[in-house]
Amino acid sequence: MSVVVVGAGLAGLTAARDLLARDIEVTVLEARDRVGGRTYGLEVAPGVWADAGAAYLGHRHTELTALLAELDLKTTPTAMAGDSRFELGGDVGTRAGRFPPLSAVALGELFDALTDLCAKVRVDAPWLTPDAADLDRRTAAGWAAEHLRHPDARRFFPLFLGEMMAADPAAVSVLHMAFYLRSGGGLRYLNAFAGGAQEDRIDGGAHQVCERLAARLDVRLGEPVRAIHQDGDGVIVVSASGQVRAGTVVVAVPPALAGAIDFRPGLPTPRARTATAPGCAVKVHLIYPRPLWREYGLSGWTVNATGPLLSTVDDSPPDGGAGVLTGFVTGSEAHRFAALPAAERRERVLAQAARLFPELPAPAQVHVTDWIGEEYSRGCYAALFGPGDWGLLGPGLIAPHGRVHWAGTETSTEFFGLMEGAIRSGHRAATAIAETQEEQ
Ligand SMILES: Cc1cc2nc3c(=O)[nH]c(=O)nc-3n(C[C@H](O)[C@H](O)[C@H](O)COP(=O)(O)OP(=O)(O)OC[C@H]3O[C@@H](n4cnc5c(N)ncnc54)[C@H](O)[C@@H]3O)c2cc1C
Repeated sequence: MSVVVVGAGLAGLTAARDLLARDIEVTVLEARDRVGGRTYGLEVAPGVWADAGAAYLGHRHTELTALLAELDLKTTPTAMAGDSRFELGGDVGTRAGRFPPLSAVALGELFDALTDLCAKVRVDAPWLTPDAADLDRRTAAGWAAEHLRHPDARRFFPLFLGEMMAADPAAVSVLHMAFYLRSGGGLRYLNAFAGGAQEDRIDGGAHQVCERLAARLDVRLGEPVRAIHQDGDGVIVVSASGQVRAGTVVVAVPPALAGAIDFRPGLPTPRARTATAPGCAVKVHLIYPRPLWREYGLSGWTVNATGPLLSTVDDSPPDGGAGVLTGFVTGSEAHRFAALPAAERRERVLAQAARLFPELPAPAQVHVTDWIGEEYSRGCYAALFGPGDWGLLGPGLIAPHGRVHWAGTETSTEFFGLMEGAIRSGHRAATAIAETQEEQ
């Protein structure tokens, strides 16, 4: 019996790859005119690709690492050598290491409080955590107001959450924040470059994973799926250019986009009612002839309370053939920045680059990728589960709706929100379908 996969991101293409490997006929319907979803490459100089979407991985991302080996893709370490710059209210400062010049007591208070919170959450089923209802009702902003005493801890918390989750603390529940941090391997792992989740990048760009997977599959682009109807014989999947009949469907799109599909029979009430909030990330790439900051002993890493770029990192290609500085605009700052006219965004980015790196010339190019406005992503890095969302969505997160199976990074309790989570969800959905077919 054939399968239709909705969405040609990492989750959908992994599911399709696994199904094909079991000799199950599979067609992938993708809304955009490209594959990759939240992985997306920008060619910023001839043969130099910048990751406008997902970029970083670490050694615990074992399924992604295995896929890279299968697809003959290599990684390169994320560059971090040199001094960092910080603009945390007042003048720009330079110092060794990547931790901001804030009170050690404050940072200790923040990380201890978060570690205690993460230890409580049941990562395999957050909705079953003791006190789940209470943690799911309150926002991360409310939690910070209650638990963080030191002004530096309060100041750094939104920057930290923006960097980790692309979240405004007011938009996520305490339960989701704790779950996300733990699901990603814990605070220390998630936050680290060397030895952590940001250790490496994929040579030539993360988008190549989906491109190489898709080359082996039947993928139809420009086919937004509008309706999925089930009857006694199977499933009818209605997309832009017509309809496809199949035995089973895998929906591998973020929850809010899945909720926009017309399901018949309709989804169980809790899933249908759950909207989730979009993650708020805009990625900015500043392109220089080469990584000029290294010539001044700088790593390119900055952390800034004054936007728009709340942090920057050196994402230059390994041969140093171009200087690529990636800026992250996250949380509420991302909403403000995304709403500006293009010329004003550019002006603000150039003014900040001049403040942070007065010794450098202006970048030759500035690229802005706004994920908030992307019709087929609706925010990034991942959907944010706000108050009440885990309680409603959690228990049925991966339960099939008849012949409809679910995938996507938001359905993975392991490495939720990351490429690794997406791939694991694709494996899980394909295994469940194959097992069902074997039973029939
Ligand atoms: C700026 C940014 C930075 C990130 N940084 C990292 C990082 O450093 N490391 C990391 O591991 N992860 C990172 N992520 C997250 C990572 O990109 C995602 O977790 C992962 O790519 C999600 O894959 P997915 O297949 O679940 O969803 P998606 O990639 O969103 O795929 C869903 C696909 O479905 C399509 N679609 C949507 N609606 C429909 C429809 N109705 N019909 C047909 N097709 C549809 C979409 O176009 C898309 O192609 C980042 C993401 C962004 C945007």
